Amino acid sequence: MSIEILNSIKKANNFIKEKKIKAKKIALVPTMGALHEGHLSIVKKAKKDADVVVVSIFVNPTQFGANEDLSKYPRTFKEDKEALESLGVDAIFLPTEAMMYPPNYNTFVTVQNISNILCGITRPTHFRGVATVVLKLFNIIKPDIAYFGEKDYQQSVIIKTLVSDLNLDVIIKTVPIVREKSGLALSSRNLYLNEREREDAPMIQQALKKAKESFKSGEITNTATLIEEIKKYLSNGKTLMLDYVDVVDSETLSHLDTATKHSHILIACYCGKTRLIDNISLK
Ligand code: AMP
Repeated sequence: MSIEILNSIKKANNFIKEKKIKAKKIALVPTMGALHEGHLSIVKKAKKDADVVVVSIFVNPTQFGANEDLSKYPRTFKEDKEALESLGVDAIFLPTEAMMYPPNYNTFVTVQNISNILCGITRPTHFRGVATVVLKLFNIIKPDIAYFGEKDYQQSVIIKTLVSDLNLDVIIKTVPIVREKSGLALSSRNLYLNEREREDAPMIQQALKKAKESFKSGEITNTATLIEEIKKYLSNGKTLMLDYVDVVDSETLSHLDTATKHSHILIACYCGKTRLIDNISLK
């Protein structure tokens, strides 16, 4: 069967209603399109777990700041559709901005405290936009399971908190980061990088791996020292400029002075003008 394009909320509602009558288990994979192997690995996982897989493609304006890349964010629907079709995805939910945020739209949801730290410092309205659109997507698609990538680690913790705090009836599953051979985490924004920046970008993961090795060898548990080591390593990348790096509790995202196995290092780093994020578990 060919893939259904649900290009209105009504179409999506009808599609879902029909599947629910048949007691089908529905999976949702929210994306902003410009799909790469990272997205596709999530889709493959969803296909294994559920009867019906819906991928949403929506470049959500409310999660972009005023000076960010909303207008130039890559849009590759034709290729996205082909890739999803070949994986046997059942439907693409493809709303427009006007459908999701009609005139006089007024409702936003904020997951307090963990939205204004780490990435939330440079992007103060980002996670409010993410939480709002994800809640809307959950209400429209009513998935039994929804999938998020560990690449956006803070986002995944925020979504889990949203689901728990608001008693949403959906299971959240996370999927490991897919990387290029170089170690660079796949991202739709990698398309912005020029040749020189592409050479430097893998240093972000190298710095994280080096810090993890220092931690694992028992050499360093003091997070200030780990952070210094990462900063020093990245200072060798000519096109790199660190936004932040922090060692946090893997569940609560709160800063730690001493790293443990239950910690994550989270990082955002400009590579030229492109802001890239990555993270590593110290487990
Ligand atoms: P985006 O289209 O960037 O909003 O991403 C959609 C979903 O794909 C999010 O849950 C991301 O965390 C996930 N994702 C993006 N890049 C990767 C990657 N390299 N590996 C695994 N998941 C990813």
